[in-house]
Amino acid sequence: MTGTLKAAFHRLLPSRLLRTRSGSPSHASEPPAKHLPFFKLTEACGSQQCPLCRLRANALEAYLESLVYQGVNDRGFRAEFDRNYGFCAYHEHAFLAKQDRLAIVITHRELIARALEGGTPPDAGSQCSLCRLLEETEQQYLKTTEAYLHDAELRQALEDSAGFCLPHYRKLCARLRQTPNWLDELQRSRLRTVLEAVDEYIEISNYSLSDNLSRLSKPHLRRLPDVVIGMLFGYNPDQDTGT
Ligand SMILES: [Zn+2]
Ligand SMILES: [Zn+2]
Repeated sequence: MTGTLKAAFHRLLPSRLLRTRSGSPSHASEPPAKHLPFFKLTEACGSQQCPLCRLRANALEAYLESLVYQGVNDRGFRAEFDRNYGFCAYHEHAFLAKQDRLAIVITHRELIARALEGGTPPDAGSQCSLCRLLEETEQQYLKTTEAYLHDAELRQALEDSAGFCLPHYRKLCARLRQTPNWLDELQRSRLRTVLEAVDEYIEISNYSLSDNLSRLSKPHLRRLPDVVIGMLFGYNPDQDTGT
């Protein structure tokens, strides 16, 4: 990704948002100053899903918005997009879901023409620039989580959150020299809550009485399948389960 689209998107990345609230430089002997990534992280804790999944989803949404509104005519972006044979299939469908038909048609014309000439490689989309950018975003927020893990404000936000999905929790633990007991207990408590809801769901489903079945419409049971999959494998980046 190059040019104005890259510049616009990178303004959204945590690494570019390093201005402190006070504007003063931080020192090793002091608690780290709170930057915008910290506030974005604590805000994402209120989304009722893994905060790191939420932040990835936000980054994807911001990228696709900038692509639709200004990126399709960016020469640098178009050259890289063509060179990489588009995004990966997953992100192509996320692009498609934006429903900007003209942007889809314009950006993919060259790929169709090259396919007609027999130029499409079998690993089309394997160099997906969106995958790379979202990985970068995820690493930045994992770093932010690690840096502020002992901050009281972040801890409170995490204790009020739905917890991390297992893939992000594993990545976070891999970065930490020692996982704090409170975080481990928090994560286990969220898993216990999901397991209890699963058992409740199965028990209710064993009865065909209409009043029992209506209990499945309770909010925490209605969204349970999304939570189960999200907790185990990460939340769908395009799915807002935060309400
Ligand atoms: Zn996650
Ligand atoms: Zn991708």
